[in-house]
Amino acid sequence: PTTFTKEWDTPAYKGKTSFSTGLFIDGKFVDGSKGTTIDVINPTNGQLITKISEGLEEDVNLAVAAAQKAFDTTWGLNASGPKRGELLWKLAQLMETHKDELAAIEALDNGKTFDWALGVDVTFSINVVKYFAGWSDKISGQTLETDEKKLIYTRHEPIGVVGQIIPWNFPLLMLAWKIGPALATGNTIVLKPSEFTPLTAIRMCELIQEAGFPPGSVNIVTGYGPTVGAAISSHLKIEKVAFTGSTLVGRKIMEAAAKSNLKTVTLELGGKSPNIIFNDADLDQAVNWTAHGIFWNHGQACCAGTRIFVQSGIYDEFLEKLTAKAKAIRVGDPFGADIDQGPQVSQIQYDRILGYIDSGKADGAKVHLGGEPVGSEGYFIAPTIFTETKPDMRIVKEEIFGPVGVVIKFEDDDDIIKQANDTVYGLAAAVFTQNINRAIETAHKLQAGTVWVNCINQLHANVPFGGYKQSGIGRELGEYALLNYTNVKAVHINLGHTL
Ligand code: NAD
Repeated sequence: PTTFTKEWDTPAYKGKTSFSTGLFIDGKFVDGSKGTTIDVINPTNGQLITKISEGLEEDVNLAVAAAQKAFDTTWGLNASGPKRGELLWKLAQLMETHKDELAAIEALDNGKTFDWALGVDVTFSINVVKYFAGWSDKISGQTLETDEKKLIYTRHEPIGVVGQIIPWNFPLLMLAWKIGPALATGNTIVLKPSEFTPLTAIRMCELIQEAGFPPGSVNIVTGYGPTVGAAISSHLKIEKVAFTGSTLVGRKIMEAAAKSNLKTVTLELGGKSPNIIFNDADLDQAVNWTAHGIFWNHGQACCAGTRIFVQSGIYDEFLEKLTAKAKAIRVGDPFGADIDQGPQVSQIQYDRILGYIDSGKADGAKVHLGGEPVGSEGYFIAPTIFTETKPDMRIVKEEIFGPVGVVIKFEDDDDIIKQANDTVYGLAAAVFTQNINRAIETAHKLQAGTVWVNCINQLHANVPFGGYKQSGIGRELGEYALLNYTNVKAVHINLGHTL
């Protein structure tokens, strides 16, 4: 494989990187089996960043074989909890050493600003790896009482080779969420990053190697969904697949799992999260959080609070303040000085978002702010707010995954729960009120895996995250994530019963 090298001398970051562009299989960088490559595009200008190796089904097979060998010899039940924890901690330290470089690669590849990449993506990824490092020597089962002539206990054993497929919106962070619990519990991994944003995952392979993980314990096969992703989800030797991405592809993963070997499936899918602001909210704080809720990561967040329900008593003032906040967002080069929002990730996403904006206009919604591209180069879209929507419009029902929010006026408390829950999704929700009873009552009635009260988009390594309804199956992060990566075995020991 070739080496990708780049130097930055920008207002946000000065520094350089250099890493292989190959597939990472059995501890080595290799070309794909057919020698083909994938173009990685810079969303800021639409130009080629580099070419990386394209993996195919044959490469997934090689990766699975390497992962199986590692599981049977150097990892799995052969690496103690403290050893696994030590290596994960070492990895986190190496990430810390290279944090600016990782943030720069992420900003280049994804288009998020360098500052956010550093402050959120890289920092949180390090926390997650450290958090799961801590769990490595704390995996234990139970002893269960039946009668005096029996000893029964459970073991939480690693599953074996696990497949992991991740999206482009938080490339490094999603990798950390996935590999952390899988490695802590002793599994070996075949992971596919998004073909749009593979670079931090590839750079991480070198850090994984440097940390001392045995060859084959982590394999990264870059490639496309219908080839590499499909090979992972239908592989007969992979007993578990964890997927983060769209609900559409999530269905395909489950179908492939069902048709192949009934591997266990966890899914973190899309959302259209409600954000409810009651008359008695702290208005300025609600505005600040709401803007963060829609525009953070350019709206490319699965938990983005995109359906903004505002109670009639404060609607006008709220909208005015939210508009001012959105207008102040500085859109531009992710490496520029004082930039808040970079480009969307790809031409496809850019076209998709503009398509949604057009559909909103055609359906009769009012573009209150934005609603158009910014500049003539790269995939920039202005922060956009729609008002005067109807519940059946596509912009109200479907995940847009861009900097586009709909603001909807509501009257009474009872009706708002119905409206908020009127969606196929159930990933997250937010509620703003200064009345503690209303806050708790609303939080409990909302059908969502996460409810934020007087805040939004808050995530912590030790707090579970995942969806109700079509937003997914299973929980990531926290102790809950460990359950995804262990098989529970009950061992019965007869101490004297005779037949
Ligand atoms: P996507 O579903 O298009 O792709 C996700 C991954 O699946 C990519 O690696 C892709 O190559 C792969 N893939 C595509 N087709 C496949 C197939 N047939 N078989 C196997 N794998 C296949 O999603 P995306 O556009 O990369 O990401 C955006 C979506 O991810 C949004 O819907 C967003 O809500 C969701 N998301 C959810 C969470 C969460 O935690 N719930 C987090 C981030 C993103």
